[in-house]
Amino acid sequence: MRPFRYSRAVDVADAVRLAGSPGARYLGGGTNLVDLMRETIEQPDALVDVTAMPGEIEETPEGGLLIGAAVRNTALAEHPAVRTRYPVLSRAIVAGASAQIRNMATLGGNLLQRTRCAYFYDNHGSRCNKRQPGQGCDALEGFHRNHAILGASAACIAVHPSDMAVALAALDAVVHLQGRNGSVRSLPVTDLHRLPGERPDVDTLLEPGELITAIELPPLPATLRSTYRKVRDRSSYAFALVSVAAVLDIADGEIRDVRIALGGVAHKPWRATRAESVLRGGSGTAAAFAAAADAELAEARPLPGNAFKIELARRTIVAVLRELAGDSA
Ligand code: SF4
Repeated sequence: MRPFRYSRAVDVADAVRLAGSPGARYLGGGTNLVDLMRETIEQPDALVDVTAMPGEIEETPEGGLLIGAAVRNTALAEHPAVRTRYPVLSRAIVAGASAQIRNMATLGGNLLQRTRCAYFYDNHGSRCNKRQPGQGCDALEGFHRNHAILGASAACIAVHPSDMAVALAALDAVVHLQGRNGSVRSLPVTDLHRLPGERPDVDTLLEPGELITAIELPPLPATLRSTYRKVRDRSSYAFALVSVAAVLDIADGEIRDVRIALGGVAHKPWRATRAESVLRGGSGTAAAFAAAADAELAEARPLPGNAFKIELARRTIVAVLRELAGDSA
């Protein structure tokens, strides 16, 4: 591991000041970044530990929640307001990792974890455009069972690994940021991550040195039901083959509102806007749910090893929506 300077920020202003050099990285729980440093895939010259930053879970005046970026995943998943009002988020976090990792990992760090594509981690023989732009992608003709079916490019077919980010996408969460020059901005969480295009080495739309300070959850009316379902090769210690986060408001068989996000299928949490458009204002029947899933997945471009994900995603979307509809569909 390359030597690096370590410092511990006491607040947001201190953190962005300490991360003033281009080679600096923010350190949350370190559950992904430290692994990447051990493999010399990430080689920062400075780490700014942001886990001591003040970070609470607070009610907003609008009736939502404001969650500090340093809040640990366990604290977030177990918070009474999250469990009762945003069960999709609580379930996604619990599905995301072991208890030990959840105890360490922070909200901000979870969002910025990097793909688990095996070729990305093989720094001693595999070609990977995300690790080294222009090198090639060994997953295209290699083992790509876990890889993307939506929004991929000829340069990269990796998927984003976070379960929590998928739930946040379905909740229309907002990311609050602070830049090196003190600038403050916010953006929808669906705009935080990017598709690979020609630059798979760039995972997000963050500016250099920009720090995630908090995530805001908009209020969720009591009529909305939400849940998260993760399909994987084994029941624990596995990333999603496909996951579905959904929020549904249905009354008298009519869908008043619906939000769906998919995990395990793209380089970013995939908001299923086509499916939502098909469903909104229509009837909440199994046939309608299937038609919506088909509309979303019509754009899927699988490879031989992951073509099964289309049917898996279709069935999971339908199953989740039927569950939220009370299985009356
Ligand atoms: Fe690298 Fe992306 Fe190809 Fe995986 S899919 S080897 S991360 S370029």
